[in-house]
Amino acid sequence: MEFSTYSFSTKKVLLRVDFNVPIDKVTFEILDDKRIKAALPTINHIINHNGIPILLSHFGRPKNGPENQFSLIHIVKRLEELIQKPIIFCKNVEEAERRCKDVCPGEVMLLENVRFYPEETQGDLAFAERLASLGDCYVNDAFGSAHRAHASTTQIARHFPTDKMMGFLMAEELACANKILQNPQKPFTAIVGGAKVSDKVLIIENLLNIASDIIIGGGMAYTFVYAQGGSVGSSLLEKDKVDVALSILHKAKEKGVNIHLPQDSIAASSFLEHAETTIVPTHSIPYNWMGLDIGPESIARFCEVVSKSKTILWNGPMGVFEWERFELGTKSLAVALAEATEKGSFTLVGGGDSASAIAKFKLSHRVSHVSTGGGALLELFEGKELPGIKALT
Ligand code: AMP
Repeated sequence: MEFSTYSFSTKKVLLRVDFNVPIDKVTFEILDDKRIKAALPTINHIINHNGIPILLSHFGRPKNGPENQFSLIHIVKRLEELIQKPIIFCKNVEEAERRCKDVCPGEVMLLENVRFYPEETQGDLAFAERLASLGDCYVNDAFGSAHRAHASTTQIARHFPTDKMMGFLMAEELACANKILQNPQKPFTAIVGGAKVSDKVLIIENLLNIASDIIIGGGMAYTFVYAQGGSVGSSLLEKDKVDVALSILHKAKEKGVNIHLPQDSIAASSFLEHAETTIVPTHSIPYNWMGLDIGPESIARFCEVVSKSKTILWNGPMGVFEWERFELGTKSLAVALAEATEKGSFTLVGGGDSASAIAKFKLSHRVSHVSTGGGALLELFEGKELPGIKALT
């Protein structure tokens, strides 16, 4: 079903959103409400078309049932401000079952964290059926959870053979990803960074089929440099991934994809914010020193590649960007992406850390799209089908 043309009038709409926002552990203050704001167009569309949103979301990773720190009660006030309506907050499914009997258009319900029920992550069919019985139709707008086969993201959809659809956010996220996956304007450069090669092997392997250039930075670059015979000191290194790194380099050569590794690094004497630093060639980092950011030559080279690209995907920082002294590589690439976007390139930033990095540098509004999905976006670019999306077909 098509969300924008569906008739919501007087219907109870089970709307799975992703309200998994970061909060202060002591004051429970919301630190970044981007995910709540991202769901607003869908929520407001349902309200404006006389439907009754019944919001379902997870929040954090509770282990043993209800826990105050993972309660969605902490987001109610902000949500009420944003939609300018009171929220009917239901502490559990029983309360939701009771109260949803007499909700009317104009009202909005929010169910407590679905992960307070272990059945949610188990993808339990009976639990999904219980949730489904609360509504007349199902809308999934939780792109950030679309890679999970959980009760409220996937199994629930079975109970709505026809009246199920994706919301505006999910549709936009998919359209942006597909723009790259299906027909990227060339040259297409993928920037992959972050801590671990092991997390990014599948995405790099898949990107080898569509990218013209792949820039590899961050801690994961050192395993590639080591694999080529370099000395990387005490930089992050996954020795058990050396063969994988060599195989990626080999396949890239066969497929004519240019792999760009950092020629130089900012090395630190220890993993500390104020450690002594020096600029060194990445393939000869002294014993006991560790690369924590890419160096000036790498920045210049990587930014040049970005400036010549028509499509750019960015997943993972170039260094320990959380510390100001090791943020320059990540920041420079963020600026390069913003400039490329201004010149008409399509730029997609995704993955938790890249999204927080670009937000830190206040450049989120200057790229084409910052995805709200971390794992989900990664899995899409690994070439996988997401269960939350498949369930809607
Ligand atoms: P990931 O979650 O795999 O995308 O990794 C993101 C994390 O990698 C961030 O917290 C960065 O601080 C960290 N990181 C990036 N580059 C390095 C590096 N050269 N050494 C250690 N950690 C790094």
